Amino acid sequence: ATVLTGIDLERAYGKTPALRGVSCAVRAGEIVAITGPSGSGKSTLLLCLAGVLVPDAGTVTYDGRRIDQLPEGERSRLRRTELGVLFQFGQLIPELPVAENVALPLLLSGARRKAALATATEWLDRFGVADLAARYPGELSGGQKQRASVARALVTDPRVLFADEPTGALDSLAGEQLLTQLTRVARENGTAVLIVTHEAQVAAYAQREIALWDGAVVDDGLTDAPTAGA
Ligand code: ADP
Ligand code: ADP
Repeated sequence: ATVLTGIDLERAYGKTPALRGVSCAVRAGEIVAITGPSGSGKSTLLLCLAGVLVPDAGTVTYDGRRIDQLPEGERSRLRRTELGVLFQFGQLIPELPVAENVALPLLLSGARRKAALATATEWLDRFGVADLAARYPGELSGGQKQRASVARALVTDPRVLFADEPTGALDSLAGEQLLTQLTRVARENGTAVLIVTHEAQVAAYAQREIALWDGAVVDDGLTDAPTAGA
């Protein structure tokens, strides 16, 4: 089933057009790679679909609702609950231990502390870093920080995960491990995963690739990667 649709999206920064009429659809449990050269509009498309940026024209529909028309407060609430956003540089809060960082989205949504920390630990475990729960972000390697950030983006069990260059800071082995783990989450939880990437290695994990060029879709199709559901 389709969970997220963008239709005729346009967005400019001042006079610089970044998206010139982009349409796309994302299905539950599907891993989608958004590819294209630097400046082609990948990040802008991701931010519009995630409800971070409001498009100048066009519509974004998530779960049957027009999210581009929602006020910022509602979009922000959606991002804390049903949409998980993984920013390029993790942005863990240095003053909080890893487990609390990961639990934060749950705590902000009013979950009880003990339950939130237990769920956070489960997600850290899924990404192989449960032993880091009590450490502070400053004590982690880049790859460990990235896994903790992914755990935080997934802790609310979102329907869609948005990730901008999630493997950009990782070596190729750590990158492949992260993608394998994301593939498992997509399959087990039905999470759709949108990944902005310029790496062919990453696109190989996606069932669908949306290629952008100069703010427009030049290719959108199924890859030969196995489906997450298979
Ligand atoms: P990427 O490496 O994913 O292509 P960018 O380097 O384009 O990302 O963007 C990194 C950040 O800088 C983003 O927050 C983006 O909005 C911002 N940014 C990108 N291009 C410009 C620009 N020309 N002027 C100001 N900010 C920009
Ligand atoms: P990509 O992610 O493919 O590198 P972006 O979506 O970051 O592409 O950028 C698309 C276009 O919009 C580029 O021309 C970029 O310079 C411009 N742009 C992106 N973010 C900003 C920003 N915050 N301010 C001004 N221009 C920006």
